[in-house]
Amino acid sequence: MAQKFRSCANEFCDSVSKISDAQYLIRKMRYEQALENEVNLRKNFRVAAEVIRIPVVVHVIHNQINGQIAGSNIPDEQIYSQIKVLNEDYRKKVGTLGFNTNPVGADTEIEFFLASIDPSGNPTSGIKRVYSPRASFNIVNDNDRLAMSNLSYWDSNKYLNMWVAPLSSGYIGYGEFPYSESVEGLDIDSDERTDGVFIDYTTFGRKSGTNQSGIYSFGRTVTHEVGHWMGLYHTWGDERCGTDYVSDTPVATTSNSSAFCRDVFSNCTGTRTRNMIENYMDYSPDSCMNIFTEGQKQRMRAALDLSKRRKRVLNYAKFQLPPSTSLQVNFENPLPLTNPQFQILLPDFQDFTIVIRDIFGRIVYNQSYVDLPSTVITLPKGNIIPGVYILSVTSNQQLIQKKLVFY
Ligand SMILES: [Zn+2]
Repeated sequence: MAQKFRSCANEFCDSVSKISDAQYLIRKMRYEQALENEVNLRKNFRVAAEVIRIPVVVHVIHNQINGQIAGSNIPDEQIYSQIKVLNEDYRKKVGTLGFNTNPVGADTEIEFFLASIDPSGNPTSGIKRVYSPRASFNIVNDNDRLAMSNLSYWDSNKYLNMWVAPLSSGYIGYGEFPYSESVEGLDIDSDERTDGVFIDYTTFGRKSGTNQSGIYSFGRTVTHEVGHWMGLYHTWGDERCGTDYVSDTPVATTSNSSAFCRDVFSNCTGTRTRNMIENYMDYSPDSCMNIFTEGQKQRMRAALDLSKRRKRVLNYAKFQLPPSTSLQVNFENPLPLTNPQFQILLPDFQDFTIVIRDIFGRIVYNQSYVDLPSTVITLPKGNIIPGVYILSVTSNQQLIQKKLVFY
């Protein structure tokens, strides 16, 4: 496949809006005013930053008619790697590619986890797979984004929806802005059904699975699009020497749309300044990127508060956490052997072991799981017969034992 250069669809959609809707700029200005007020308010009242955790559902829209893990039906591991990249980048984690030593580099104190409860209240892995015979989707077309949502969608008042599919027209991602329903006149921009991010399956996750090669193989496409989802603009403001409404990202003539990480300079203000090409909101190759600034952090956190829908997502997250601080095991007792499922809740990616013994102490199931987040485990059908058992789950020297009845 020909190398795609980063072309995030937000820029295109923004320019379409400007042409097709005369009121667009006025509404954008109103939103910016409201956001600026919110940022200043938070500064004045010294709102303490607490860690925000955002529940994510990943909708994998794939072309495998028999559901096998191949092609655009990307493996779980690729999805897990993406969640890890998000947390490394947004938390500026030491010892990862998301770390930087820039004085304005921020730990945004925003984290992401795969949802553990689905919209009906049932345990979930946070991953939905759905078959579509379509070869690809064009994300700059509103109808195509809606078509993806119609295949699979969870309430955007509760989750950050991530749609992963084969995308056409060279676009690798799109993120919906957090238009604020609380700001008069802005509500018509928001479409709940398509609120989330849309990512090409070849640029989702860290170098693994279908994301084997190329300059967008570190998972930063999602870091970038989620930045839009939390109200960030491109560093060059989508026009020559434009503004991103953030004071500590240098004004730039244009994007770094090259395949390189070498320095680029602008002269927008009469002084030659170095572009912050390592900013996640530029178009640089993934390997160059490692920074959100303090200003971007303040803007994102204010946007999460200002948008009613984003605020609802944060509030809902508090009810459905894990972030369990410790190991938890949930299941229905008795458990049908036709579909024996356990939910394992963990604080982070961890190893764990499941052992099932019968009443004579004989082991009937023993399996180790490596580096997984909170998830739902389905036991393989086979040698277990109806009866009473003891379930032991061990993780990080923590042990949970429970009586288990199969029928
Ligand atoms: Zn973008």
